Amino acid sequence: MPSPFAPRPATPAPTATAQARPCPLLSGLPALNAVCLDIDDTLIDFTASARTALHGMIGRDDLWPRWQQLTDEFVRRVVAGDLDYQQMRCARTKAFFADLGNHLADDEVDAMEQRRLSEMNRAWTLFEDALPCLDWLRAAGLAIAAVTNASGPHQHAKLADTGLTRFFDAVLIAGECGVAKPDPGIFHAACAQLGTTPATTAHVGDRCDVDAHGARNAGLHGIWLDRSGAGVATARAEGLLAITGLDELPELLVSEYRLGPAGGASPVPAPR
Ligand SMILES: [Mg+2]
Repeated sequence: MPSPFAPRPATPAPTATAQARPCPLLSGLPALNAVCLDIDDTLIDFTASARTALHGMIGRDDLWPRWQQLTDEFVRRVVAGDLDYQQMRCARTKAFFADLGNHLADDEVDAMEQRRLSEMNRAWTLFEDALPCLDWLRAAGLAIAAVTNASGPHQHAKLADTGLTRFFDAVLIAGECGVAKPDPGIFHAACAQLGTTPATTAHVGDRCDVDAHGARNAGLHGIWLDRSGAGVATARAEGLLAITGLDELPELLVSEYRLGPAGGASPVPAPR
């Protein structure tokens, strides 16, 4: 199947009559006028960057699963309000080294964290399908929000460094909102900022629980991005919308929804 991002001949502009008369095949589809996107491991290859930085700190890669486990534990404490993100990073690194039998002083931990963070920030890379997908969503007339669990300053800097800021009509960051996915509050705040309703908004992210189910529980259309593809068949069998890359998102949206601010009255433009 050709890529949905591949150039194709321009579609003739529809006539006024065609615009006024909705296609009967589309009229039964739900309207969609906005898409929220997760950032880390959805648009930006966060895992690769974080893993590279951890390797730089300890000189080995086999402890990545333990680092991820500790990260989940400490982020839960941030969400609960027990720690801020800076405290969380230092406490996580201290706990990580304590596991290895190295009990580090606070100033040693601070120095290591600064080096790890600066290495990670140098290594941010976008997935290849991120920019074409965002261009397509823009061209389709959809409002776009970033909905992400992270600290505010860190995530704003990441969005700016990777050139993503310009795509978003709203940016919802857990560290600024005081509420994190999968809490419905952050999804509802995104809809409010976009001027949409949950029923006409989709959210796409790489975490099945936090992103897809979280959005669905908040009344949005949850779409799971499973880049490994390992869980897609099961998810679809359970009625969840799932894709293996952002290059599949345009086709999914066009087939499942009436797109645009008027719920499909405007034609979907050809991908740029
Ligand atoms: Mg993510």
